[in-house]
Amino acid sequence: MVDVRLSGVRKEYDGVTALEELSIHVENGEFFTLVGPSGCGKTTTLRAIAGFEEPTAGTVQFGTREMTGVPPEDRDVGIVFQNYALFPHMSVAENVGYGLRFRDPPGTVTRDERVQSLLELVDLADFGDRNPDELSGGQQQRVALARALAPGPDVLLLDEPMSALDARLRDDLRTQVSRIQSDLGITTIYVTHDQEEALAISDRVAVMHDGRIEQIGSPEDVYRRPKSRFVAEFVGENNVFSGETAAHETGGSLVAVDDHEFRVADATDGNVTFCVRPEALRLGGGENTFSATVETVEFLGEAFRVHLDWNGKPVILRVSEAPENDRVRVGFDARDAHVVEGGTPELVEQR
Ligand code: ADP
Ligand code: MG
Repeated sequence: MVDVRLSGVRKEYDGVTALEELSIHVENGEFFTLVGPSGCGKTTTLRAIAGFEEPTAGTVQFGTREMTGVPPEDRDVGIVFQNYALFPHMSVAENVGYGLRFRDPPGTVTRDERVQSLLELVDLADFGDRNPDELSGGQQQRVALARALAPGPDVLLLDEPMSALDARLRDDLRTQVSRIQSDLGITTIYVTHDQEEALAISDRVAVMHDGRIEQIGSPEDVYRRPKSRFVAEFVGENNVFSGETAAHETGGSLVAVDDHEFRVADATDGNVTFCVRPEALRLGGGENTFSATVETVEFLGEAFRVHLDWNGKPVILRVSEAPENDRVRVGFDARDAHVVEGGTPELVEQR
């Protein structure tokens, strides 16, 4: 097992920059996720780690080993892609065994024993003789995972492995991948555009945007303390307010958004952007209150998601009971307003 370090990794394709100066340190045994919208550079980063792409600048290191010029088959990485990529003419067991084409199984076991133990690991012990087309999408992805793990790689790389599956299968596979990763303690770098999946499965996440990293932190960190407007809006739902500081008070500032003043945690003078999560807003009172019009109400099962209009601006509210009237008073506390632009140095330091 190893840690993985990317230092100043840059990738250009014909003068177009796909990655700018990416620096990431993935710890040994960590489940680390790259999350961001389509086209932000997640696959390019994974391919640079796997050795399918050489960075235009910068280095990739596994432990103390510098990987420049090392071909993929010599990097000890296991890879799972979005589209199963199983061989249709081979049985499930043969597909897993194919993972051992470059090397012997780790330890003293035979190839067949290794294949069988991997099939057990992914809960497909009795499926070895089947053909891939007799398996569900989720089962096929577990075969792909078993194949990737067969040689006992140092690093596991997964590129949107669940995006072709429907919701229920995706949930099941997510739980299994998480269990297998923590059982094996293998350093894992996972790629997804699905922020919910990223929060659920990872020790830490890197939020990517336009070939850059916006923020690295624990799922709770990036959700509760987004460092930029992009992260605030990409990770979970958020209500973003932009205004200007009107006054400072003890323990907070007044920020004027249109002609309404909100109390938020310390903000600097000038332009300020802060956000309030839909679940931090509530019907009725709060340190800050405003009136809004109910546009639509969606029943989500465990909660209602209410789309409001406040002075022509959309505001989302998440509550356990649906509002009874078309016109509502909404409140939130100053401490639930998280400043993403225009904070004090102490606040910037904290976030
Ligand atoms: P993601 O996986 O986050 O969707 P990618 O890493 O696939 O993003 O792509 C990042 C950027 O690099 C995109 O703008 C994409 O068009 C560009 N890109 C990726 N691969 C190539 C390539 N082989 N040639 C030219 N441009 C590429
Ligand atoms: Mg991709």
